[in-house]
Amino acid sequence: MATVAFIGLGNMGGPMAANLVKAGMTVTGFDLNPAALKALTDVGGLSANTACGAAAGADVVITMLPAGKHVRGLYLGDNSADSSGDGSNKGLLDVVGKDTLLIDCSTIDAQSARAVAAAAAEKGLEFIDAPVSGGTAGAAAGTLTFICGGSDSAFARAQTVLEAMGANIFHAGGAGAGQIAKICNNMLLSVLMVGTSEALSLGIDNGLDPKVLSDIMKVSSGGNWTLDKYNPCPGVMDNVPSSKGYQGGFMVDLMVKDLGLAMDASLASQSSTPMGALARSLYVSHARSGHGKRDFSSIFEQFAVPANDE
Ligand code: NAD
Repeated sequence: MATVAFIGLGNMGGPMAANLVKAGMTVTGFDLNPAALKALTDVGGLSANTACGAAAGADVVITMLPAGKHVRGLYLGDNSADSSGDGSNKGLLDVVGKDTLLIDCSTIDAQSARAVAAAAAEKGLEFIDAPVSGGTAGAAAGTLTFICGGSDSAFARAQTVLEAMGANIFHAGGAGAGQIAKICNNMLLSVLMVGTSEALSLGIDNGLDPKVLSDIMKVSSGGNWTLDKYNPCPGVMDNVPSSKGYQGGFMVDLMVKDLGLAMDASLASQSSTPMGALARSLYVSHARSGHGKRDFSSIFEQFAVPANDE
């Protein structure tokens, strides 16, 4: 069984690492947040004092971090967090064994993914970008979708560990292709979430029960993933963030980040993305009104009349 180093044990990385432990792998974790590290040791994982300490000697290194700067810093060594912990500012690429497979599951810009892949290749190491879809529920259930970019051989080597955390594993193309596919998906998701929120609010404002309206739209031409799995209107669906005060789930700040990545990519390729641009503005304004740490389905509140005003 593979020995795995797992760095970044937050909302997503924590349950993903727990599933690797469940699958019988030896998992050594590291996170800047001690509580996240403790959650891994509570389920049978091991803890390291530094990222480099976790990665040295591992067969596979998996990272699940907020953004490109964290991923570049950790792998390449220009890391203010000092991954090695000895002041030398070594990156993961400086300490891993020559056969170690590197997998970054964070959602980041494709340029950063390509830069780390190229630096890894210079050292004879294989790196894939493998961002995920499926949210915290998918991470806990081990049913994530992995969207990979990298060589055929690295993709093939990654199968066993990815299968322990996910249900669907795609190879989108070469280095960075996983990140591009992922931001296309998240741009579409943001548009669907905003559209679903405004449609539900229009129905409520005109006297409809949001549960009944959701049931109708789910099987009609407006049906989409947010209605099936992630209804933004409180009380319509159990066990989704909207019914838990929009806690947990996928933070507005992270959606803002992903929409920024989508806009950067659309500028670079001169693509027309008007709906994505509008969704980004709506999410930025929602974040700036103090909702950055809440789940992204809370955008519903920008359209709905607050319950006590009705
Ligand atoms: P999170 O903020 O909960 O977790 C990130 C973790 O990384 C934190 O625990 C933080 O302490 C740790 N960290 C940051 N810098 C570090 C460093 N240098 N060394 C070690 N640990 C470090 O975020 P999350 O929701 O788990 O998201 C992680 C990534 O997954 C993001 O790129 C996000 O866009 C993507 N993603 C999230 C979801 C979701 O539903 N939450 C879904 C798909 C993809």
